[in-house]
Amino acid sequence: ALQARNVRKSFVSGRVESTVLHDLTLDVRAGELTLISGPSGCGKSTLLAILSGLQPADAGDVRALGHELSGLSMRALEHFRLQHTGFVFQGFNLFPALSALEQVELPLSYMGLAKGMARQRAIESLEEVGLGPRMQLRPAELSGGEKQRVAIARALAKQPELLFADEPTSALDAANGQIVIDILHRIARNHGTTVLCVSHDPRLVGHADRVLAMEDGRILSDHVPAASQVAASEAKEPSA
Ligand code: ATP
Ligand code: MG
Repeated sequence: ALQARNVRKSFVSGRVESTVLHDLTLDVRAGELTLISGPSGCGKSTLLAILSGLQPADAGDVRALGHELSGLSMRALEHFRLQHTGFVFQGFNLFPALSALEQVELPLSYMGLAKGMARQRAIESLEEVGLGPRMQLRPAELSGGEKQRVAIARALAKQPELLFADEPTSALDAANGQIVIDILHRIARNHGTTVLCVSHDPRLVGHADRVLAMEDGRILSDHVPAASQVAASEAKEPSA
C-alpha cells in the first residue's frame, strides 16, 4: 500500500545541516497495523509526515496507493490527502468551539459529501469509537482519551485507505492508551484500512501486525510480534 525508497531528509539550522532520514526504505503492507517505534528524535514524525504527503523528502521516492507522491502537484497532493488518507495527531488538533459531531463532519463536508450523508457517517464513526452518547460535547467537556477518540473518529469517517497516527497514546494513561490501540487494530481488521502508527511506547509493540524499529533515521529491524494481538483487542470498552 505504501513504499518508500531511499528517502532522505535533512534540516538546516544556522550553518549546521543534520540528516534526519538516511536513505530509508520500507514497505507497508495493505490492511495491516504497522507500528514504527524508536527513541525520541530518531525521525519518526518526520518519516510519517513524508509518507503521508504532508512534507516533501529531499531525495528518494514515496509511492502511496499507486501514486508517486513527489510527482503530484500541490493541488493533486492535497486532493490525495483529503480523499485517501486520515491523520491522527498527538495533540488531537480539535476545534474548541465545535462539538464532537461537528469535528467529525467537517472534513466530510470538505470532501464534498452531502449534509445528510456526512452526518450519518460522522455518527457511525463516533459510535464505533464508543462516543455515541457524547457526540454533542465540546473538547473542553471531554477527557483526554475521549478527545483522542474523537480525533480517530474524524480520520475514520473519511473511510481512508491509509490511516496515519503519530503517538496516538502518548497523552493518555495506560487504560485509555489500550482503548486507542484496540480501536486502531479493529480499524485495520474490520475495514481493511492500512494503519501506520508511530510511537515510542513499548507497550504497543505486541498489538501491531508488524513492528519496524527505527533508530537515528534508519530502520533497524522489521518483525512480526508474538501472537498476542487478538487477545489484546478484546479489552473492553468503557461504559462512557
Ligand atoms: P519524538 O519521539 O520525540 O516525537 P521523533 O522520532 O518523532 O521524536 P522527529 O520529530 O522526526 O523525531 O525529529 C527528528 C529530528 O529532526 C530531531 O532532531 C528534530 O529536531 C529535527 N527536526 C524535525 N523537524 C524539524 C524542522 N522542521 N526543522 C528543523 N529540525 C527538525
Ligand atoms: Mg514525533
